[in-house]
Amino acid sequence: MTGFYGHVIDGEETGSLDGRRMPSVDPWTREPWAEVALGGADDAARAVAAARRAFDEGPWPRMGFAERGRLLHRLADLVEEHRAELSLADTRDMGKPVAQSGHDVLRAAANLRFFADHARLSTGQALPMDSGHHAYTRYEPAGVAAAIAPWNFPLMLESWKIAPALAWGNTVVLKPAEDTPISATLLARLALEAGLPPGVLNVVHGYGPDSAGQALTEDPRVDRVTFTGESVTGRAITRAAAANLTPVSLELGGKGANLVFADADLDNAVHWSAEAIFRNAGQVCLAGSRLYVERAVYGEFLDRFVKKAESLRTGDPKDPATELGPLASESHFAKVRSYVENAPGTMLTGGLGDGWSVRPTVLADVDPSARHWREEIFGPVVVVQPFDTEAEAVTAANATRYGLNAMLFTENVNRAHRVSAALRAGTVWLNCFFIRDLRAPFGGVGDSGIGREGGDFSREFFTEPKAVVMQI
Ligand code: NAD
Repeated sequence: MTGFYGHVIDGEETGSLDGRRMPSVDPWTREPWAEVALGGADDAARAVAAARRAFDEGPWPRMGFAERGRLLHRLADLVEEHRAELSLADTRDMGKPVAQSGHDVLRAAANLRFFADHARLSTGQALPMDSGHHAYTRYEPAGVAAAIAPWNFPLMLESWKIAPALAWGNTVVLKPAEDTPISATLLARLALEAGLPPGVLNVVHGYGPDSAGQALTEDPRVDRVTFTGESVTGRAITRAAAANLTPVSLELGGKGANLVFADADLDNAVHWSAEAIFRNAGQVCLAGSRLYVERAVYGEFLDRFVKKAESLRTGDPKDPATELGPLASESHFAKVRSYVENAPGTMLTGGLGDGWSVRPTVLADVDPSARHWREEIFGPVVVVQPFDTEAEAVTAANATRYGLNAMLFTENVNRAHRVSAALRAGTVWLNCFFIRDLRAPFGGVGDSGIGREGGDFSREFFTEPKAVVMQI
C-alpha cells in the first residue's frame, strides 16, 4: 500500500463521514496498492453543499475569464509537472501502459488550457432586429456540475468534463470511477495548490448505485450532470436526473465499425485498425471492434493485421516498452473472458493471457447473429468480415444500436465523403483514428449518448444562455 487518498471537499482532503475505505487494486500485481475513502450519499451531499456555497457566495463565478483562465493554466502547468505521478496512478489503478497514461496526462493539461482559452475568447451574438430593437446573448454559468467518470481514461476524461465546467464559471463535484480513484484526488490537490478557491473543484469517491454516484444525480442542488460510462448506466442517470429536470450530457458506449476498402493505403489501414482495437487493451468507447474489409484485399489485410497484433508487446504496464497491459479489474477481465473462451468462428490469433490479460484477439467467420458483433466487449477483441459492395459495407456498419464513431480507409475522395455522410455516427475518422480537435463536436447517436461536448458544444451545456433584448 502506498498511502491513503481522501475525498476533497471544500478545500480539505477528508475521509468518509462513516470512516469507510476501499482498496484500489493494481490489475498487474492483482494486489491492493492504495486505500481510498469510500463515500456514501452523505459524503456526496456535503460535496454538493460545498460546491453550491462556492457557486452562490464564492469568487469563482464572479471572477473574470482572464483570472479564471490564469488559474486553470496554472493547474495545467502543475499537471504537466506531476506527469510521472499522475501517469503512474492511472497505470497502477487500471493497468494502462505508462507510455499511454503519460500521453493522457498531457491531454488532460491540454484540455484545461484549451477550455480556459476558449471561454475567454468566446464571443456572443449581437442581433440588430428589423424592428429596431437589438438582442444579444450572455453565457452565464449553469451552477453546480456533477461529473461522473469511467475508468478507461481516468484523468483525461475527467479533465474533459471539469475544464469547460470550470472555465465557464461553474463549480464541480467529480466522482471518479471506483476502480480508478487516485488521479482525481491528486488533481484536486493540485487545483488547491494552483489557487482554485475551496469548494470549486470537489472530489467524492464511491460507487454508483445506492452510493455517492447515484446521490449526485438525485440532488436538486445539482444543475448539470455530465456522465461518461455504459449505456445502461446512462439510462439510470437520466431517470434520476429527470426528477429534478436536471440537464444531462451522456457519453456512452460504442461498437465502432471500421471499413477498409480495396483502394486503401493498406499500411496506413493496418496501423490505424490495430490502434483502434488494441490501444488501451481495447478498453476504449471508440474502439474499432467491427472490422469490414473489401474482399479483394481481405486475405492480404488480415495477414498483415494479424502479424501486427502478434507483434504488440504485452506485459507489465509500468515498463515504458509495454504496449498492452492487463484488463482494468478482475470483474472486467471476467466479462471479456466470457467472449474469448469458446469464441465462435475462427480465432486467427489471440486468447487469454497471464493473470487478467487478454492477448490481441482476431475472430473471423463469426455468424452475424453472434453477440460479438452486437455487444460492446471493451477488450482487445475484434470481429472481422469481408464485404463486396460499398452499400453492403455501409448497411453492415449502421446495423447497431450504438453510433459513437466509425472509421473508413479509402484513397477515393468521392467515396470518402459519400460514405462519411452515410454512416450513422457522431464522429467519422477517414484514413485515421483518434485524432481530435477540441473545437469539434464529440458525442454519439442512439445508445452512444445524448448531446455533444467540445468547444461551443460544451459552452451550450455548461451555461444558461440568456437573451437580452433592448429598445434603443
Ligand atoms: P459505468 O457506467 O459502469 O460507470 C461509470 C461511472 O458511473 C462510474 O463512476 C460509476 O461509479 C458511475 N455509476 C454507475 N452507476 C451509477 C448510477 N446508477 N448513478 C450514478 N453513477 C453511477 O462505466 P465504466 O465501466 O466505468 O466505463 C466503461 C463504459 O464507458 C463503456 O461502455 C465505454 O464505452 C464508456 N465510455 C464512453 C466514452 C464516450 O466518450 N462516449 C468514453 C469512455 C468510456
